[in-house]
Amino acid sequence: MTSSNANLMDLMSRIDMQKLAQVASKVDLPRLLEAASNLEDHQLRGLMRMLSGGPKEPAALPEVNGDFFDVAATLSERQREVQRKVRAFMEREVAPIINAYWSRDEFPRQLIDRFRELDLVREIWNEDGTRKPDASVVEGIVTMEMARVDVSTTVFFGVHAGLALAAIALGGSEEQRREWLPKLMNFEVIGAFGLTEPEVGSGVAGGLTTTCRRDGDGWILNGQKKWIGNSTFSDITVIWARDEADDQVKGFIVRNDTPGFSVEKIMGKIALRAVENGQITLKDVRVEEQDRLQRADSFRLTADVLRLTRAGVAWQGVGCAMGAYERSLRYAQTREQFGKPIGNFQLIQSHLVHMLGNVTAMQTMCLRLSQLQDQGQLRDEQASLAKVFTAARCRETVALARELHGGNGILLEHDVARFFADTEAIYSYEGTNEINTLVVGRAITGFSAFV
Ligand SMILES: Cc1cc2nc3c(=O)[nH]c(=O)nc-3n(C[C@H](O)[C@H](O)[C@H](O)COP(=O)(O)OP(=O)(O)OC[C@H]3O[C@@H](n4cnc5c(N)ncnc54)[C@H](O)[C@@H]3O)c2cc1C
Repeated sequence: MTSSNANLMDLMSRIDMQKLAQVASKVDLPRLLEAASNLEDHQLRGLMRMLSGGPKEPAALPEVNGDFFDVAATLSERQREVQRKVRAFMEREVAPIINAYWSRDEFPRQLIDRFRELDLVREIWNEDGTRKPDASVVEGIVTMEMARVDVSTTVFFGVHAGLALAAIALGGSEEQRREWLPKLMNFEVIGAFGLTEPEVGSGVAGGLTTTCRRDGDGWILNGQKKWIGNSTFSDITVIWARDEADDQVKGFIVRNDTPGFSVEKIMGKIALRAVENGQITLKDVRVEEQDRLQRADSFRLTADVLRLTRAGVAWQGVGCAMGAYERSLRYAQTREQFGKPIGNFQLIQSHLVHMLGNVTAMQTMCLRLSQLQDQGQLRDEQASLAKVFTAARCRETVALARELHGGNGILLEHDVARFFADTEAIYSYEGTNEINTLVVGRAITGFSAFV
């Protein structure tokens, strides 16, 4: 007996003849058999699934988590606590409102009270202007968590608690630090940082045109500043100006209500629309000597401030890319096409894996960067490399996120459109891609390609 005959005999022996007769009395059995034999394999499999009680419950999907290498596990309990606090604040209080503010070029100022309650600045800075031993790692994690939901919120915090506060901490006298730092830490006074000018961006080190001139007990400032974050509502702006007498760059704490100081909000941005950037005009603005940063006598001090904050901008790229990746994964698990979640498709998985690789490389690079900074070993070219690398990888990641969302990717309500647009600003500020590339290129080759 052949094996197929044996299978047939086995099958026949298992058929219940009484039930077969019952079925035959109700349907045309030979026709049913013929129709079944004409079905494709996958149709037959579907039929069998149906007979065995329909499709099985899908297995629970993996958790959406952009921290694939568990960088969080390397943090101290205090750092983890700060991370959890910022994550909860961003998800509960910023995420629901930010698209509305972004679309009308407005910063949600009611968040300032919440920033005061969160008391994050004291996790980074001491009241005397020194930094906590793990300040850079904490600042990095805070930045990443904010940018994971919204980059504009990060920029508000970074300009106030990073650039403006650092300028006074590094450049101010003891009295100036005593006077301003607690107010900045408490968000009683909001700070801005005015360096860039309409005609001078990358070339600020040698090209500032805003001037200061000694006049008795004070100084007279004239010029313009462009792109100055927070300046439309800040109380003070640190203004960098070239001294007409010795040609050196000096820093001033300028109260925004000083006569001759005016700010116009920059409209029509396609990125970071919830950051309020101002164009400032200084027309014979008088600042007392006591408000000149006493330790800022040359651009070297300005560069020190920028050096301190550059790592933070690299972390913005990490958070922004992480947010875009996590939203994309969630979307891929839920958005269905051709009868199944798009996460089933190989090309979509390829996009997600590419994004996650970027996020993980950026995140681990930035953690090491901040550790070096906290150990006092960070070199300029290392911060520049991190800025160049993360901005480029972030740009690639948010573009994939936009693509993965199809048409919905250009709608604000899905968030990735905001990440996509905001990345363009990350790419250009705190040293453009080109300038940071030249810094790294000079360090590794020994040849300066700056012209
Ligand atoms: C959203 C946003 C917020 C900002 N916030 C602030 C703020 O709060 N305070 C503040 O002071 N500034 C702020 N800036 C300004 C920012 O730092 C500048 O935009 C940045 O330094 C670049 O200057 P720029 O835009 O004038 O470009 P430019 O310097 O005019 O550069 C134009 C192009 O030329 C390239 N380039 C320039 N020089 C060289 C060179 N030597 N070799 C090769 N390529 C070169 C640049 O890389 C760039 O691609 C902000 C900018 C933006 C967009």
